[in-house]
Amino acid sequence: MVSNCANPACATPLRYLRDGRIYQFEVRSAPQTGTAVARKLGARRVWHFWLCGRCSSSLTLTFDQMEGLQIIPLHRAYSSAAV
Ligand SMILES: [Zn+2]
Repeated sequence: MVSNCANPACATPLRYLRDGRIYQFEVRSAPQTGTAVARKLGARRVWHFWLCGRCSSSLTLTFDQMEGLQIIPLHRAYSSAAV
């Protein structure tokens, strides 16, 4: 479980879940790194990340299978969604 804000420049300790925003991403393990049991279960894991109230007001999180976790400004998320 998360313990700090996902923004490395902030890293505020998580104290109150109601402050900020929790993000869930379903992550598929690469087949070569997954265990036999993980493959049997579909090799899926749900990762949780948290942005504190201050960061979540201006930033959002996305997860890319290749790039990993990305922190992007909210206005950029909105403009790319509009395209
Ligand atoms: Zn933060």
